Amino acid sequence: MRIVVKPEVIEKLFETRFAQERMKGVPADEVPREYADEAVKIVLSMSDEELFKVETFKYEGTFLKGTFKRHICHVCGELFFETAGRIEDGKPICRRCYAKLHNGDI
Ligand SMILES: [Zn+2]
Repeated sequence: MRIVVKPEVIEKLFETRFAQERMKGVPADEVPREYADEAVKIVLSMSDEELFKVETFKYEGTFLKGTFKRHICHVCGELFFETAGRIEDGKPICRRCYAKLHNGDI
């Protein structure tokens, strides 16, 4: 299943004062709260059908086989399942740390 926010919803949100301020470069936490509330009210007032396009499709790729093999990341110390990281130079490293160190994803 694929769920996408309809483009007209996004365009409508870009018309809000919140989006206008953000596009000027104002950080989100510095935009007046009432501006953000206006955008939230727009979203909350819409039905799921108005907000989203829902598609079903047949996935043609292959799913990773589930695993219970796990490692402790030598960088952050968190546990990860082997499909969410790799062994680099003989040491386990999680996907997040790998991405930080190598400026990308596994
Ligand atoms: Zn890590």
